Amino acid sequence: LVSRKTRKEDTVILLPGDVVVGGSASLMVAGPCSVESEQQTRAVAAALQKAGVRVMRGGAFKPRTSPYDFQGLGMDGLRILREAADEYGLLTISEIVDPAHIEPSLDYVDIIQIGARNMQNFELLKAAGEVNKPVLLKRGLAATMEEFLHAAEYIMSRGNTQVMLIERGIRTYEKWTRNTLDISAVPILKQESHLPVLVDVTHSTGRKDILAPCAKAALAAGADGIMVEVHPDPATALSDAAQQLNFDEFNTFFDEVKASGLYR
Ligand code: PEP
Ligand code: MN
Repeated sequence: LVSRKTRKEDTVILLPGDVVVGGSASLMVAGPCSVESEQQTRAVAAALQKAGVRVMRGGAFKPRTSPYDFQGLGMDGLRILREAADEYGLLTISEIVDPAHIEPSLDYVDIIQIGARNMQNFELLKAAGEVNKPVLLKRGLAATMEEFLHAAEYIMSRGNTQVMLIERGIRTYEKWTRNTLDISAVPILKQESHLPVLVDVTHSTGRKDILAPCAKAALAAGADGIMVEVHPDPATALSDAAQQLNFDEFNTFFDEVKASGLYR
């Protein structure tokens, strides 16, 4: 079902408010790593609306490496995200980690995110396949293209055709970036599959100084959208403090990406 062989035309996903993913328009998804408070989330929503961003991300269920790190606000976080997004006319995307949370999340998210660590959580993929809601599937930390596409197939095999793929970097020996952005994944996925393909420049690189060139490279390679983390005061963030952009940095980044002419 995910294969280009079964469907020649690009899949275009229609979100509320006439926002489309895939096809002729590029999508910028931005927002904090974690929803931390109403105030923090509303501040981000206001800044994104001003910048012309339509889709706000924000993690509520955080898959953290250490159990002692901030785990996210859970369902409260989803509610805060929804309220801030509604106030500023934005759409929401948030990661769901438990199959039992898929149904309850439907009132709060416009896109369900499946995280890298859960790319092969097959029960979660099946649950996401059974609802009528777009799903953004992140590439696993060490997933091959075949494994990635099979994971998307799990979702589609249950009836949900609204699937988007996102490259978020893979584990290599390189330590100067958090992960290694596999730019070749973009044209390969576009060639092998008809699904929209995005690139998460924040988690793939883990460094703010190379986000704009990486985003431009992603778009030049055919990506349909970019994901980037934005926080009102990154230094105090409860997760991923080192890699989130503040509002000024985000505006500079977005301006540079748009000025390249690659952002449609
Ligand atoms: C995220 O986008 O919030 C996240 C945790 O990313 P990943 O699953 O790619 O690590
Ligand atoms: Mn993060």
